[in-house]
Amino acid sequence: MKRTGLLAVIAVMFVVAILAQSRQPAGTSHTGKAFRFNQVKDGIYHAVGTGSLAVVGNSSFIVNDTDVIVVDDHVSPAAAWVLLEEIKEVTNKPVTTVINTHFHFDHAHGNQVFEPNVQIIGHEFTRRMLLNNSIGMPLYRNYLTAMPGQIEDLRKRIASEADAAAKAKLQTQLQVAENNLASQKELRPVPPNVTLTTHMTLYRGTREIQIRFLGRGHTAGDVVVFLPNEKVVMTGDFLTSGLSNMSDSYPEEWVASLDELKKLDFDTVLPGHGEAFTDKSKIDYFQAYLRDVWSEVSRLKKEGVSVEEAAKRADLTKHKDHLPIQGPGVPPLAAMRIYELLNGSARD
Ligand SMILES: [Zn+2]
Repeated sequence: MKRTGLLAVIAVMFVVAILAQSRQPAGTSHTGKAFRFNQVKDGIYHAVGTGSLAVVGNSSFIVNDTDVIVVDDHVSPAAAWVLLEEIKEVTNKPVTTVINTHFHFDHAHGNQVFEPNVQIIGHEFTRRMLLNNSIGMPLYRNYLTAMPGQIEDLRKRIASEADAAAKAKLQTQLQVAENNLASQKELRPVPPNVTLTTHMTLYRGTREIQIRFLGRGHTAGDVVVFLPNEKVVMTGDFLTSGLSNMSDSYPEEWVASLDELKKLDFDTVLPGHGEAFTDKSKIDYFQAYLRDVWSEVSRLKKEGVSVEEAAKRADLTKHKDHLPIQGPGVPPLAAMRIYELLNGSARD
């Protein structure tokens, strides 16, 4: 090769290296592993954050004969980037497909780290929300605007902490929060580039991967990922191991949609929050809770109680044996949502 040709090749390699490097988002630094991978069936993993990096929701991934499918991609580009790095320690097969169970920030804000040739699959509604103002919604706005105050608070606590071990722990929390904020600043929501409205099936060798919309519930466009041969279902926040967020929900329809989930033949649930579980009675407990939140908040509204007051007074403590409930009250965004639905003023 001529000298000029060689120089040109070196120059191109240099530029490619810089471009590859520049894809690494801000805020990825952390100590130890960011994820714990729980392999529930052959090649099927549930990824749960360890706390060394802000990831918030869980993801799952499926290692097939020649590729990897990721379900949900966490709270930030940094979290998704680190997930991909840690998946590389399990397999060198490429991630070809991402499935968004819904549009919420803690499940779909990693979409931007994937190359354009990766298929990002989600419900038509999820695409619409991520294309339009999903980051202007109260759920994400509240999350983002609280961050600087939390960082300031951690700094103050570090300054006044005398115990070395406690101080070190707070310092780790501060680093996690600062990294998360740095990554949120680079956020650019990316919508699914493949959509569905009822169902879609992916075939990979012997694997059948069904993506199903079971009706409105947690949002107007949640999908679950069901593997009939392995009897595994990935549920996002449609069904978690505890209480799901209700800020964009349809509580009454959610109960009926969960009945549809029960019709699927699975033995293992990989939820969007909490650990994997096999106990199907969790669905009944959550349905009972949803029915009672709806009737309790509706009752308070009928009595003329303000939405703020209803959020404090709604009493669901009778569900505390099965769900993480400490005392009376529901999240303000849940009460607000129910008031809006009753007023007929709720957005999609
Ligand atoms: Zn979530």
